[in-house]
Order: sequence, then C-alpha cells, then structure tokens
Amino acid sequence: MLNQNYKENLINSINIFCKNINCSSCGGTYNYQTFTCEYCGSFNEELKESYLNISSIIPYLNKDNVDKEITLYLYKLANSSDIFNHVLEQLDLTKETNSIIKELESTSDYSDLDIKLLEGIFSNDIFLDIDNVLRDIILRNVVLRKNSLSKELIEKVINHLVLSDTRKISKDSRFYIRNLGENVEGLASHYHVYLDKEVMDNFYDKGDISIFYVLPHEMMHTYRTYLESKGIVTSIYDILALKEMLLREYNQGIYFNDKNYVKNLHEIEANAFSYHAGTNYLRSLGFEVSEENALSLSGVINNDLTRLDNPLREIEGELVNINDLFADFIKDKTALFYKYPQLNYEFKEENGCIVYKSKNELVDEMMFQNKDTNIEEFYLSLIKNANDRESIKDKNDTLKS
Ligand SMILES: [Zn+2]
Ligand SMILES: [Zn+2]
Repeated sequence: MLNQNYKENLINSINIFCKNINCSSCGGTYNYQTFTCEYCGSFNEELKESYLNISSIIPYLNKDNVDKEITLYLYKLANSSDIFNHVLEQLDLTKETNSIIKELESTSDYSDLDIKLLEGIFSNDIFLDIDNVLRDIILRNVVLRKNSLSKELIEKVINHLVLSDTRKISKDSRFYIRNLGENVEGLASHYHVYLDKEVMDNFYDKGDISIFYVLPHEMMHTYRTYLESKGIVTSIYDILALKEMLLREYNQGIYFNDKNYVKNLHEIEANAFSYHAGTNYLRSLGFEVSEENALSLSGVINNDLTRLDNPLREIEGELVNINDLFADFIKDKTALFYKYPQLNYEFKEENGCIVYKSKNELVDEMMFQNKDTNIEEFYLSLIKNANDRESIKDKNDTLKS
C-alpha cells in the first residue's frame, strides 16, 4: 500500500516533471540518461530529480493502490511524455480517467475529493480534449444558481472553455481575467483572450449569461488573426478584412475613430459570430434566449449581416471606399505587400510600385486555380471589381480625349 507521503511525492514529482519536459532555454528535448538538452546541452536538475522520484515509485503501483487522484496525474504524465508508457500501459489510464469524469458528470453534490479531481482536470491542458459534458453541466449550474463550487474553480472551467477552442488555432493561446475598465467587457490581442473581471463576477454571483457572448466575440478576433497571419483566403471578405486591419494599424489617427470602429468588419463579424455561437451554446445547455436579448448581448445591429462586404466607411465626414483607400496606401509599400501573400490575388509589383492586376490577368489566373467553389466566387468578385475600375477608367479616358 502506498502511504500518503508517497502519494504527495508522486503528484509533486509529476507536476515538476511535466513542467520540465522541454528545455527552457531552447525548447529542445532532454536525454534521460544525462538529463542534458539534446540541442543546447544544458543540464536540468529538476527534471533529473523528478524523473528519479517517479521511476522509484512506479514499480510499486498497481490497480489496487492507484486511487482516483493518482490516476488523473498518471494520465497527465502518460499524455505529456511517452518515457514512462511501458510501465503505465498496464494501468488502463484512459479508461479509468473516463470513468472518473463520467462519475463527476452525474453529481452536483461534490465531495472534497471530487473538488480536488475537478481542480486537477480543469487546471490542466492535457484535459482540453476530454468531452465537454462535465464542463457544460458545471456552467449550466452556475446559470441556474445551483452551483456549489468556488469562484476560482469556475474561472478554471471558463479558462478551459476558451482554451479548448483557441488552442486549435495556436498553441500560444492564453486566457486572462482582468480589470479592463469601464465599458470594456473583453479584449483580444494576438492569440490572447481577456475577460473583464466584472463580467466574470456577474456570471458567478448572478448567473449573468453575457459572458457567453463576450467570449466568442473575442475568440473570433483571435481566429481572424490566425487567418490573416496564415494568408488564408476563402472569400472577398477576407481580403477586405485584411485591408481594414492594415489601414487601421498604419493610419490610426484618421481611421480608428468611434464611428468606424462600430462599422469595422472585424467588429461586425465578431458580433455576428457571438450572436450565433452564444445563442447556440446557451440553447445546448437548455436555455432559450429571446431574439431581442441575443441582438443586444452580441451587439448585432438590426441583425444586418449583409454589411460584411460593404467597403464604405466615413472618414472625416466623407464616405470613402476601403478598396480605393487601400490601393493608394499600399502602392509604395513593397515590404508590407510581400508580408501578406494573400494580397497577391489582387495586386502585383510593377516597376517598384504595388498596383492592381488587370481584369485579363485575373481571368487567366482563375483558370489555374483549383476548382473550388469558394475560390471561384472569390475570383469572380475580384474580376467584377477590376471590370468596374477599368470601365470607369475607359470612360474618363474617352472624356479627356
Ligand atoms: Zn536546450
Ligand atoms: Zn471586438
């Protein structure tokens, strides 16, 4: 029988071991004979000590002395590294872990041990891939005010909700709860999502559901960052969103005013996504949200999503077309042009200037694309724009001559 000291030692060692799996200086992997990094050669004392501790305890483990808590930590160990797999295989960790989770799903009257298990599950990235039933039951109970868990634990569950989606697009995704100040409910920066502390508090203290609209809004921003950084284009709208992002980044003074902020494509799409994702998630938990509430919680105005491809913005009292503004902006910025390969669909470099491709060039290129309906439609819109530009130019030339 394992005594309590062994158990604490094992859990502690697993935590330290998992934290040290990759070299902190170069990200490389370690050699488990010398405990030096295989790339930069640096030695890791913590890894060695925890490895030796775990190795000395593992031979004594069997189905009878591995309790639920140890099971979860061994599951974490087995999923973090395969160095101990040969000894862990006999313990059926996946099956045991699933049955622990299933058991937790069937209660809301948690014992002290249950709470320890929940903390283990929701504070660990390894469990991001488990089925979401347990998480959803817990959050549903918060809305219903039937919740007996601490705020710290509920924050971990929300963290889990955000990371299980954003980790799919980047391993750098993070989630923070912060005081964001008046009228700011959430923020997204790169792959980091921030939630205002008051929104979290209102959820925990009053079962306020606005959190389920704020989070998808910010998550949509991180997804847009992902599409833009990977150069992924599936529609004319992706190009428009990129142009708007670059115009805002480089012309903040004139462009980033309140009027345009609410009309900004990134905000409109985040609101639209929040409207659907928030309402659907709540529906999946068994709550119906009225159309009126869904509109106001998501910030969708008149539910008018057709504006997604509207290129008009008001700048200093004048209506301007983002496409025109961008063509003028990019013409002398070759470095920026090459940084975003998706701009290559519409523009090219000619004598050191970035200029529009002609309608004929676009028609030729379309022939060489994969027969994908999205890309075809995307090209058809580019060709239509080019056609409009060229016929206006022809008309002007005729008038001049
Ligand atoms: Zn290294
Ligand atoms: Zn936003």
